[in-house]
Amino acid sequence: MKFDVTELLQAGSHKWKKSDVDAVTLRNLEDLCLKVNALGYKPLMYASSCLRSLADQKRINPKALGSSHLYGAAVDIADADGKLKKWLVANKSKLVECGLWMESPDATKTWCHLQSYAPKSMNRIFNP
Ligand SMILES: [Zn+2]
Repeated sequence: MKFDVTELLQAGSHKWKKSDVDAVTLRNLEDLCLKVNALGYKPLMYASSCLRSLADQKRINPKALGSSHLYGAAVDIADADGKLKKWLVANKSKLVECGLWMESPDATKTWCHLQSYAPKSMNRIFNP
């Protein structure tokens, strides 16, 4: 199954309607879907968190108030067994090809954070 914007808007505790979201954020979500779907990872992926309001972000991670989650440019994919992260580390070229950056697996124990904008370090697999 492929990710779509409607699914990403429903990921996490805040259920968004398309009409709640501005045009730039919607384009970011569409771009994120295209990129994650292009990875070619075969097992089913489940988004546990995507777009966050500032209040959500303050609750979830108050140290990262510039998070790509605020702009619909990051998704957390459930990955309790670490298989997705392991696959991405082994296939780092897919991240480059698809224009995605991944938070270090050491920082994301049960999920995989992917974002469609480069972090300040520009590292494809980066420390938060
Ligand atoms: Zn994340």
